[in-house]
Amino acid sequence: MPFNKITQDILSKFSAIVGQANIFVSNEDLENYGHDETEDLVFLPEVVLKPATAADISEILKICNSERIPVTPRGAGTGLSGGALPVAGGVLLSMEKFNRILEIDERNLQATVEPGVITQVFQEAVAAKGLFYPPDPSSRGSCFLGGNLGENAGGPKAVKYGVTRDYVLSLEVVLPTGEIITTGAKVLKNSTGYNLTQLMVGSEGTLGIVTKIIFKLIPLPKHNLLMLVPFFNAEKACEAVSAVFRAGFTPSALEFMERDAIDWALQYVEEVNVQVKPEVQAHLLVEVDGNDLEILYKQAEEISEMMMNFDCDEILFADSAQQKDDLWKLRRRVAEAVKSNSVYKEEDTVVPRAELPKLLAGVKEIGKKYGFKSVCYGHAGDGNLHVNIIKGEMSDEDWNNKLKDGIREIFHLTVALGGTLSGEHGIGLVQKEFLDIALHPKSIELQKNIKKLFDPNGILNPGKIFE
Ligand SMILES: Cc1cc2nc3c(=O)[nH]c(=O)nc-3n(C[C@H](O)[C@H](O)[C@H](O)COP(=O)(O)OP(=O)(O)OC[C@H]3O[C@@H](n4cnc5c(N)ncnc54)[C@H](O)[C@@H]3O)c2cc1C
Repeated sequence: MPFNKITQDILSKFSAIVGQANIFVSNEDLENYGHDETEDLVFLPEVVLKPATAADISEILKICNSERIPVTPRGAGTGLSGGALPVAGGVLLSMEKFNRILEIDERNLQATVEPGVITQVFQEAVAAKGLFYPPDPSSRGSCFLGGNLGENAGGPKAVKYGVTRDYVLSLEVVLPTGEIITTGAKVLKNSTGYNLTQLMVGSEGTLGIVTKIIFKLIPLPKHNLLMLVPFFNAEKACEAVSAVFRAGFTPSALEFMERDAIDWALQYVEEVNVQVKPEVQAHLLVEVDGNDLEILYKQAEEISEMMMNFDCDEILFADSAQQKDDLWKLRRRVAEAVKSNSVYKEEDTVVPRAELPKLLAGVKEIGKKYGFKSVCYGHAGDGNLHVNIIKGEMSDEDWNNKLKDGIREIFHLTVALGGTLSGEHGIGLVQKEFLDIALHPKSIELQKNIKKLFDPNGILNPGKIFE
């Protein structure tokens, strides 16, 4: 069904709802909201709206639904699959005014927040009360909780503590047709009908606009220890990952960085200095946390002894808070470093963790076949490998056409190893053409029918997840 353009009359209706001060139509504003962090893609909306209440969003959606105007919800725009790109024009609905932490319920270890709260701001607010909200994407200093929910974001701590969905108890959602619903309750268990809360998580803004979130929290661990382990062989580093868990440890982070990833991060983050020997091919960043420091030292020692079986070099133990911060800064900024270095495409492959060595080797083989270099890093403890394909010397022709076959091959390999297309970045715009590799046609049909049920006119975030 074709969409309609936004007329002056419709703009006046928007103005009556959100006020003229919250409507943006200048070229500069449209450009600012026309991209996220996905490659260099830009799609301009016709208008940017910044509502502040669920009731306002409900009124906006009722108009857009009856007038057939596309609406794209946007958090902080740090997404890596193009979820917040307004590909069909229309309304860009910025959630930045929903920026309040409404309640931190210390008695029940829960919090109620609006979706425009920055993830790190929330983490720090609950930490000040001795509580812990673990999902921590590397973009946590700028991304929003609502965007995390849209993508079911993970991050380094997911390996021990789980991803965003594991902390969501209930949501307030404005449906594309304008009704406002609550999906769950302020409870830790809930067997009351279908689980719409979890259906919303990871739905990439295609089923409804989240306007309030109730999160579960856990007690904040008192201590952590961090070590950087260099390896002479990248596949051996990957082999060490599953060995750690088989030996009975559950680190609070287990991150992998290929040689280029750490080199580029070291160039990019000038204030951090780590010596890397020329023969080193990869690193694992390993963190353990808990309340008993003695036990943690013992664990760290046992893990480091185990690492020796995988041809590692001398391990660097972070011996101060500053050194821990520095090492984390390096790891968290790899993505930006890669982006600053070259045109690239990022794939968010995930496999059972013991298959990581095969995935890494396979990606390199496929790269040789198609003539691309890749820089790999990621949340190895979860089997989640970010494959950054670097344009480098590749011709525009090969980059735009031939590369797709290479990516398809990477995804076929991922699925053959028992994995899937995305661990935490979502399908959005850029991965939807590969969805058939991972999902049965009937599964895709069921999902499309769910979308139709929520959004009969297809106005909410069109062009995402499915062709
Ligand atoms: C440097 C860098 C590092 C990153 N590291 C990680 C990482 O470690 N782990 C990880 O998981 N991701 C990571 N990401 C990806 C990205 O930050 C996450 O996907 C994040 O969750 C997106 O949040 P956002 O607020 O920017 O959302 P946006 O990009 O604005 O939106 C994401 C999706 O959510 C939808 N959406 C936003 N708000 C709402 C709402 N209120 N209701 C309904 N739908 C909504 C949008 O329509 C879109 O589909 C990284 C990105 C960058 C640039």
